[in-house]
Amino acid sequence: MNPATHYKDRRDGLWYKCKACDEFVFKQALERNLYICPSCNYYFPVPAESRQCHILSPDSWTNLFPTVAPPSLLQSLEISDLVSQSVFSDSSHRLIAAGQGDISGHPTILAVVHPFARAQRLHFITLLIAIRAAVQNALPLITVYSNDSLPKSRATDCPIQSELSFPEITYLSTEMEQLSEASLPQITVLTDTNVGGLSTKFPLGDLILAERENGHTSRASELSHASHIRAHSESSLEEPKCDAFIDCYIPRQDLSATLGNLLDFFGKT
Ligand SMILES: [Zn+2]
Repeated sequence: MNPATHYKDRRDGLWYKCKACDEFVFKQALERNLYICPSCNYYFPVPAESRQCHILSPDSWTNLFPTVAPPSLLQSLEISDLVSQSVFSDSSHRLIAAGQGDISGHPTILAVVHPFARAQRLHFITLLIAIRAAVQNALPLITVYSNDSLPKSRATDCPIQSELSFPEITYLSTEMEQLSEASLPQITVLTDTNVGGLSTKFPLGDLILAERENGHTSRASELSHASHIRAHSESSLEEPKCDAFIDCYIPRQDLSATLGNLLDFFGKT
């Protein structure tokens, strides 16, 4: 037996297989390389906790996740009842992370949704905590979403209706308007440029960035783009175009520095 096949697609094992170039990548090497394939530059999905580490200054993180947040904080954010009525598994923190930390010296609230997570009550409550913490502390809010975080139908490989209801999305969007009223920056980072339909699934910031490999198009992203175009040609013309609401494309390795520059800019205006 070929020893390499033993580890094929075992995410918790020592190796990851790149779906773009089929090379096996040592897990620790991939983590050190920001989950970017060293052979072909393909962007692997990044767990929520690892995203925090990439974006925020080391040791600056304070968790706002509902199951560990202090009751006094939840009380002050007027969300303790909502949390106490909800039950989350211990592994939920892998699906979404929210907390306060520094980006280039700017205290910021950051919420990250793990790829492959279904949008659900956990996301609603965690995003609500993040938004209210930003409002209460007068801090910028950065949200990081992946299109992969939406459930997909097998037939078309396109996102189907999320488990977050329309009233819940509207509620979060209304809460985010308080940030606009207070002139606090709201930045959303999309980690997948295939963004059709995303705007109706999660509340978006005023400025929308998307991760993209620097001048490099991998086979996987070509395939993803092709399926996206097919999906659009078969679906409603009213859906936004792929790039319609992206303000800027950023390579993953520049993301934290770019966010820092943007917060510098907003801090001066
Ligand atoms: Zn690769």
